[in-house]
Amino acid sequence: MSPRPWRDRYLVFGAPSFGAEERAALIACLDSGWVGSGPRVAELEERFRARVGAEAAVAVNSGTAALHLALLELRLEPGSEVITTPMTFCATANAIVHAGLRPVFADCDRATQNLDPEALARAITPRTRAIVPVHFAGRPCEMDAIGALAGAHDLRVVEDCAHAIEATIEGRHCGTFGDFGCFSFYVTKNMTTVEGGMLTARTKEAAARLKRRALHGMSADAWRRFSDEGYVHYSVEEPGFKYNLTDLAAALGIVQLGHLEAWWQRRRELWERYLRELADLPLVLPAPFPCGVRHALHLFTCMVDDARTRISRDDVLRGLHALRIGAGVHYTALHLHPYYQKRFGYRRGDFPNAEWIGDRTFSIPLSPAVSDEDAADVVRALRTILS
Ligand SMILES: *Cc1c(COP(=O)(O)O)cnc(C)c1O
Repeated sequence: MSPRPWRDRYLVFGAPSFGAEERAALIACLDSGWVGSGPRVAELEERFRARVGAEAAVAVNSGTAALHLALLELRLEPGSEVITTPMTFCATANAIVHAGLRPVFADCDRATQNLDPEALARAITPRTRAIVPVHFAGRPCEMDAIGALAGAHDLRVVEDCAHAIEATIEGRHCGTFGDFGCFSFYVTKNMTTVEGGMLTARTKEAAARLKRRALHGMSADAWRRFSDEGYVHYSVEEPGFKYNLTDLAAALGIVQLGHLEAWWQRRRELWERYLRELADLPLVLPAPFPCGVRHALHLFTCMVDDARTRISRDDVLRGLHALRIGAGVHYTALHLHPYYQKRFGYRRGDFPNAEWIGDRTFSIPLSPAVSDEDAADVVRALRTILS
């Protein structure tokens, strides 16, 4: 018999938080008469750059665009191998394909869910040119070990920081260890511009090239061409992309960036509460963090412990939905998707840890929009379903 729902409102997974400040910023931008890429984008770039301590930052219209541009900027021979984790969103590997490169997976660690440096070392071949570590769920990868392997084999590193805006290792921000850091401002991420992203780079020169390529390959400051400084002629230096962020989106981003710290603190309260109140259920909860590491607390992943329950992960998803609680699955291992199987010949059994996680994992609501009552309902729902 299925339990009766008691909530009258559906708790949406990954709901963003918008308030009076966001509304005011959007209206001010509309009223300014300039909504396309312009001064607000420049302001967001500078604030974000300063926050993560990067040399340069370029705003783009998605995290996927950031990955694509970063990978192209490595200027690798077509078909070069790029190693990443199968435990990630499809955009990570899709971007490698779009850059004309070959994605090669290396298994993740079961506890951290991040790329396992030993598996990474085994996946390196004479054709390997780059590594794309993903700071999964907001937990920093082992950048010491990854950096050492990259150094030893002369590999470039592009960090997928979509989950990791606030993540640091010994005070140093994720996104500043590799050649490039790729951040996402998608709706469910720790801050949002609805759609958007940011690239961090090691040099201003690289950032300038990325910025040009993000806007049709047009010469510098092309966005100024219709400004009050009068029409400015531009030249096309290369066939670029349409990856620029708008000022309207940046207006939202500037406000959201200012909330990051308080929101991280709120997620930490929820995180600790979930750890405490779900401890006795047949679930594998997120592993503790090593000291010196700041986890960005993007996803609270639970794995159904099949040694202790017969209830499947999909039963849990159905149960939560019936009790009006949204959940996510992060992720089905990427090598199990048809495209990656057909094109690259991957099969079930290739990456046991990613498969083990992908078969059991579900993520529960962890955004600042989750109230104490909502969190209590999540715990109660899981107790009802799993006992
Ligand atoms: C969200 C996400 C992306 C892509 O970001 P978009 O802004 O949605 O394009 C890339 N990698 C990971 C791990 C993500 O979660």
